Amino acid sequence: MQTPQKIAVVGSGLVGTLLAIYLKKQGHTVHVYDRSPDIRTVEFSGRSINLVMSNRGWKAMEDVGLDDEIRRIGIPVNKRAIHLTDGKLNYQHYGKDGEAIFSLSRGVLNRRMIDLAEAEGVTFFFDHKIWDVTLTTATLHLGDSEKGEWTELQYDKIFGADGAFSRIRHRMQRQSMFDYSQEFMKIGYKELHIPANDDGTHKIDKNSLHIWPRGNFMLMALANLDGSFTCTLFMPFVGENSFEQLNDEAKLVDFFAKYFPDTETVILDLVKDFFKNPTSYLAIMKCYPWAFEDKVALIGDAAHAIVPFYGHGMNAGFEDITILNQMMNKYGDDWETIFKEYQVSRKPNADAIAELSLRNFIEMSTKTADEKFLLQKKIEKWFSDKHPDKWMPLYSRVTFSLQPYAEALAIGDFQNKIMEEVMQMENIEEKWNSSEVENKIITLLK
Ligand SMILES: Cc1cc2nc3c(=O)[nH]c(=O)nc-3n(C[C@H](O)[C@H](O)[C@H](O)COP(=O)(O)OP(=O)(O)OC[C@H]3O[C@@H](n4cnc5c(N)ncnc54)[C@H](O)[C@@H]3O)c2cc1C
Repeated sequence: MQTPQKIAVVGSGLVGTLLAIYLKKQGHTVHVYDRSPDIRTVEFSGRSINLVMSNRGWKAMEDVGLDDEIRRIGIPVNKRAIHLTDGKLNYQHYGKDGEAIFSLSRGVLNRRMIDLAEAEGVTFFFDHKIWDVTLTTATLHLGDSEKGEWTELQYDKIFGADGAFSRIRHRMQRQSMFDYSQEFMKIGYKELHIPANDDGTHKIDKNSLHIWPRGNFMLMALANLDGSFTCTLFMPFVGENSFEQLNDEAKLVDFFAKYFPDTETVILDLVKDFFKNPTSYLAIMKCYPWAFEDKVALIGDAAHAIVPFYGHGMNAGFEDITILNQMMNKYGDDWETIFKEYQVSRKPNADAIAELSLRNFIEMSTKTADEKFLLQKKIEKWFSDKHPDKWMPLYSRVTFSLQPYAEALAIGDFQNKIMEEVMQMENIEEKWNSSEVENKIITLLK
C-alpha cells in the first residue's frame, strides 16, 4: 500500500474513470474533473456509439473485479462477416473456439464505471473545465471561461486523462525536450444505424463484426444490446468515392445501391441519418515524455491517440493503467520512478499499436475482399491450431494475448515474411493444408 496522496484525474472518460478506481483502491483521495455534464444525466438519443473490448481491457477490469459486471452489458463477437459487392458473405473467425471480442455501448459502459467509481469513494466534479496546470506544484486552474476568473486547486499528483486534445499535455508541450506530433487522416467517418426488428432481435448476425470492404472506403457494423447496430462509414473527405461527392440524396442512394446493396433493407433511415450525423475526423497524436517529475502524468488518449481500425484505443489506455498499477505496487512511494518506468514501458507499445491500427485499415478495407489474403489467414489458423507453440496469428497476439504490442508487431512482421514465401508456392490453393506447406513453415521458422 502506498502512503495516501491527494490525486486529481482530469477527464471522466473510460480511462480516467477506471484509473480513479485503481487509485482509490491504493488508498488515495481521488477527485475527477470533467468539463462535460455527468453522462448519467444526459439522455442518449437512443442511438449508442459502441466499441470493442478485448483481453487487455478485460485484464484491467479483472484486476479490480469489474469484469463479470461489465461482461453482462456486452455482446461477444467471434468473427468478421465480410460482405462482398456480389452479395457473397464470407466469415473469418478471429481466434480459437470461444475467443471473442466484446461489443459494448460506450455510454452505458462509461455510466456504469462512474457508478462503480463513486461506490468505491471517488469524487466527481462535472461541468468543471480545466484550463491549465502548473506542473511544478501540481496545481489545476479551472473556471467558466478561458478569459474569466480561475480557481486554483493544488494536489499531490495530477493525471491528464483528458483525451486526444488534452489541456494537460498542452501545458507539457511548452517544456523544452517535449516531443509532440499530430496527424489528421484523409479519411473521416460517419455513424449510421440499423434498428432492431419489431420483436427486439437483431436484423443481421449479432456475433459478427460486419465489414463491407471497398478499397479506399468501407462500412462496418457492430451490434448493440437493444437489437440495433451502430454502423460506421469510413471514407476519404475528398476525391473519388468521398464524403464530398455524396452531397445530395440521389447520389447517396445510388452510391449505397452500388456498393452496399444488401444494406438497403436494414439501414432504414439512411438519407436522414447521413445528412444529420456529423462527418468526424480521425487523428494520431504522439508525444513524449508522458510525465513531469513526480507530479503530473498523461494516460490514455491524452498520451497516445490512435486510429480506431484495430479497436484498441481504449484497450491500450486500460493497459496503461495495468502497467502503472504494477509500477505503483513495485516502487511504493517513489513516484518519480513509478512515472519514469511507466512511460518507458508504455511508449514503444503505444507507438506499435498506433502503427498496427493504421495498417489495419488496409487489411479491413481492401485485403478482406481478397481471396488470396483470406487463404493466407486460413493457412495461418490451420498451422497455428496444429502448432500452437510455434505460431500465434498477429490478430490473436494483439487482441487475445497480453504480449506487449511492440513484440506482437515485430513477430507479426517476421511471420508475414514467412507467409509471403508460402503464398508463392505453386498450387498453394490446392495444397494449403499439406505436410509440404507445414514443413516449409517449420523450416522458415528456424
Ligand atoms: C470511431 C471510433 C471507434 C473506436 N472504437 C474503439 C474500439 O472498438 N475499441 C477501443 O478500445 N477503442 C476504440 N476507440 C478509441 C476509444 O474511444 C478511445 O481510445 C478512448 O475513449 C479514450 O479514452 P480516454 O478516457 O483516454 O479519453 P476520452 O474518452 O476522450 O475522455 C476524455 C475526457 O476528458 C474530458 N476533458 C477533456 N478536456 C477537458 C478539460 N480541459 N477539462 C476537463 N475535462 C476535460 C472530456 O470531456 C472527456 O470526458 C474508438 C474511437 C473512435 C473515434
